[in-house]
Amino acid sequence: MRTIISILLLLSWAGLSAGAASEGKPPTSADLWRSEHLIIDLHQHIDCTTQRLARAVKIMDAAGVGIGVNLTAGTVTPGPNGGPSEFEQNKKLADTLFPGRFLHYVNLDYADWDQPDFSARAVKQIEEGYRLGAAGFKEWKRLGLYLKDGKGQLLKVDDPKLDPVWERCGELGLPVSIHVADPKAFWLPYDEHNERWKELKDHRSWWFGDTNKFPPWKELLESLNRVIARHPKTTFVCVHFANNAEELEWVDQSLGRYPNMMADLAARIPEIGRHYPEKVRRLFIKYQDRILFATDFQSLDRLILGSSGNEPPPTDADAEVFFAKEWRWLETRDRNWPHMTPIQGDWTISSIGLPDSLLRKVYFDNARKLLARSLPRPVLRARRISQDFELDGCLGSPLWRTASAVIVEQTSADGSVRPDVSTAVRALWSEKYLYMAYECPFTELTVFTPAQSSGKRFDLAKQGVSLWDRDVVEAFIGSEWDQPRRYAEFEVAPTNERLDLMILNLPEKDFSWNSKFESVVKVDKKSRIWTCEMRLPLESFGKVRPSPGTKWHLNLFRCDRANKAFLAFCPTLTGSFHAPERFGTLEFVE
Ligand SMILES: [Zn+2]
Repeated sequence: MRTIISILLLLSWAGLSAGAASEGKPPTSADLWRSEHLIIDLHQHIDCTTQRLARAVKIMDAAGVGIGVNLTAGTVTPGPNGGPSEFEQNKKLADTLFPGRFLHYVNLDYADWDQPDFSARAVKQIEEGYRLGAAGFKEWKRLGLYLKDGKGQLLKVDDPKLDPVWERCGELGLPVSIHVADPKAFWLPYDEHNERWKELKDHRSWWFGDTNKFPPWKELLESLNRVIARHPKTTFVCVHFANNAEELEWVDQSLGRYPNMMADLAARIPEIGRHYPEKVRRLFIKYQDRILFATDFQSLDRLILGSSGNEPPPTDADAEVFFAKEWRWLETRDRNWPHMTPIQGDWTISSIGLPDSLLRKVYFDNARKLLARSLPRPVLRARRISQDFELDGCLGSPLWRTASAVIVEQTSADGSVRPDVSTAVRALWSEKYLYMAYECPFTELTVFTPAQSSGKRFDLAKQGVSLWDRDVVEAFIGSEWDQPRRYAEFEVAPTNERLDLMILNLPEKDFSWNSKFESVVKVDKKSRIWTCEMRLPLESFGKVRPSPGTKWHLNLFRCDRANKAFLAFCPTLTGSFHAPERFGTLEFVE
């Protein structure tokens, strides 16, 4: 597995963008992830205008961030004269200008709070956001601190009127990002002795020290924990390091108590970095599946890098330094260096130097699972070749090396990532054939012996006796773009036993269909990699032949029983592989 991955990494090293790695030094894994745009920033605020989106993308490109999650895309309340809502307009513009670079969270309109049916109306807003493609729901610190009802009382974080909202988010699979409270210093005396004075003096409204007006700091955190406890099927990403970067023990206990709670890092590395780094590192190791990379990068009328005040606005170059410091904190063991958001306070921080296996979880794997429903559909590009070749199972040939690989490593049912069985897949095409190549790291093969030499091994009436009940690689390919429920299925086992069938109109399946496809399998027991090379006659897909630019529906799967891995190119997010509404794309290119 390591061999495949490092070959892929080396191949992509040639295409590294400027600034991704420092001059002369060999690239680290993280440099390569940045060059491949794998990193997801789960906490951004983008004003969706052409210019501000473009500025954000330029900075993300330079820093090596692939996807930004815009938490403030607006509400679904219709615009003037019933026109499209703010959310709809913002998402549409970002998707048109920069497809695949941003996901958007919907926000709630509280205008009807005092109406007796507020809860039902709020649930409708969430449902409409879901319909319009919201990736999640964001609530900011206005609950408990700013929003007031008709009688002038502050809305409580755990007001039961909001329960149906949290519950519906869980049912729809919309993660919630929620901000409550703030640094403790915002509850301490408002004067120049306050350690957050630089920030507070420019933001009088961030000071909550007046006990007649505001609830105590701890009460806000406790009320959010009550909400999280009441909705175990809803995922709550508690922003700013679980809203309490100052108390690692509290974060540890809360994450321990609530499996549906996660924490983002947005704008809190300056605070987390003040703790003893080994202690922070232990917490990251303990909750490695629950911590998400996030910055609070904001492209508004000015840039904001975690926080801001009345100082002159940062430049694009400052933004690159900001991201570089995020990487430095997570990737090095540097001690006592000036943090990335000086306005938050005058102190230094120490890095936690996570190993690659954890770093990738924090940078993107945890977010890939959390956002699986909304992430851009993957594309496998098949490169055209002028001459056909006979299969020999040798994937190191010059021809195959010109084909770019996709990595199949997400669990189909839930999007969780399995780097231990990452499977590389490439494709080539000629006038007559589509060629596919799989490289599958394994620990132990689970196969039928002896392999059946003719016919197809399947019995729909019996459990556990069909080819797909052991280890296989699979390709589901639909050649008609407007007929997504019609596609061919190909399976090959490590014994080179194979099976093909046509799904005519799901669930109707034709096992008598014969594509005459060929395959060669090699099992390298020493390096523990099995490879499969396939050649699929294009005429078996019907009369229509691809040309450069043609797009077909595609999903790729791998079953590896020994590792309990059931992987998909694009996770179907159900127990079945037959979910064509969740397929990715096969694109034929020159
Ligand atoms: Zn924010």
